[in-house]
Amino acid sequence: MFKRLRNDFQLSIITLMGIIGVLGITPYAAYRLLHGNLLVGIADCVIVLSTLAAVIYAWRTGDTEKPGLYLAAVFSVGATLIAINLGVNGLFWIYPLILFNFFMVSPGKAIAATLLVLASLVGHALWVPGSVFDSHYQMVSFLVTNAMAGVLTFIFAYRTRTQREQLQLLAIQDPLTGARNRRAMNEELKIAVSSKRRHGRSYGVLAMDLDHFKLVNDRYGHQAGDQVLIDYVKLIRNCSRQEDRLFRFGGEEFLLLLPDTDTLGLEAAAQNLLETVRDNLRGPGGPVTVSIGGAMLRSGEPWGQWLQRADQCLYRAKSEGRNRTIIDRPAVNDLAPSH
Ligand code: GH3
Ligand code: MG
Ligand code: MG
Repeated sequence: MFKRLRNDFQLSIITLMGIIGVLGITPYAAYRLLHGNLLVGIADCVIVLSTLAAVIYAWRTGDTEKPGLYLAAVFSVGATLIAINLGVNGLFWIYPLILFNFFMVSPGKAIAATLLVLASLVGHALWVPGSVFDSHYQMVSFLVTNAMAGVLTFIFAYRTRTQREQLQLLAIQDPLTGARNRRAMNEELKIAVSSKRRHGRSYGVLAMDLDHFKLVNDRYGHQAGDQVLIDYVKLIRNCSRQEDRLFRFGGEEFLLLLPDTDTLGLEAAAQNLLETVRDNLRGPGGPVTVSIGGAMLRSGEPWGQWLQRADQCLYRAKSEGRNRTIIDRPAVNDLAPSH
C-alpha cells in the first residue's frame, strides 16, 4: 500500500485530498444536520460520500484521471456555492481551490475550471448586486489576485508535467536506439500475461540477435557497431506494426512483442523481419544478418518461461547456422480457439 502511494503521485494526492476533504467537511455536515439545516447537511454528506467513493475507485481501478476530474468538479462547484452564500468569508476558499484543481487534473483543465469559478462568482455578483463582494473595488482586486495565482500555478504545473513526462520516457528508453529498455520489457510482458488471462488476448514474442556482431565491433570499432544498431532498430520499426513493442534487453539482443497475433502471424512477421534485415542492413564490412527465435504466450504460463522458450529457439537458430527463424510450436491446448 505504501509502495503504491510512493510510486503513484496522482493516487497519493487524490488520497490526501480525499482525507482532507472528508475530515474537513464531515464536522460541517454534522453541525448542519444537528441544527436542522437539512438541505445543506445532506449536500455536505453527498460531497463527503462521493469523495470517499472517488478515492476507493482510484485505489481499486488504478485509474486516477476520472476520480481527479470528478473531485475537481465537486470541489469547484462546492466552493463556488459556499462563496455565493457566505460572501467575503467564503471567497478565501477559492485560493486553495485553484491549487487543488491543478493537483487533480491537467493544467489546461485546471485553468478552465478556475475561469469558470471566477466567471460564476462575478456573474452572480453582477446579477444580484451586493451579493458575494462588498464593493466593485473588492471584486476587481479579487479577480486580479486570482488571475495571478492561476497563471503562476499554471506555469508551474505545466513545467512540472512536461519534466515528469520527459523523465518517465528516459526511464523506459534505451538512449542509443530509442527502443524500450529491459525494465519496460518486464512490465509489458507482465501486462501481456494478465491480459491473456483476463481477456483472452493472444501475444507472441520474437527474440532477435545479430549474427557475428562482435566482428563488426572488433574490425571497425564500437562506433561503427553503434551505427549498425541504430539502422537496425529503424528497419525493425519500419516493418513492424504500430502496436508492436520493441525492447533492447541486451547489447544487441532485442525483443519484439506482438499483440493479437497467432502462430502463423508470428512466423510471417519473423520471416519478414529476417528478410528485411538481410536485404537492407549494411555494416562497414557488408550485409549484417539476424537470427530470430519466437514463441506464442501459452495459457497460464509465467512470462519468464515464455521468454525462455523464445530464447531457446533463438539459440537453436544460431546453432543451426544463423540467419534464420525458429518459432516454438504451439501448446496442444492452445491450438483450439479459447472461446
Ligand atoms: P552470434 O552470431 O553468436 O550472436 O555472434 P555475436 O558476435 O553477435 O555474439 P554475441 O551476440 O554474444 O555478441 C554480442 C556483441 O555485441 C558483443 C559486443 O561486441 C557487441 N555489443 C553489445 N552491445 C553493444 C553496443 O551497445 N554497441 C556496440 N557497438 N556493440 C555492442
Ligand atoms: Mg549476436
Ligand atoms: Mg548477443
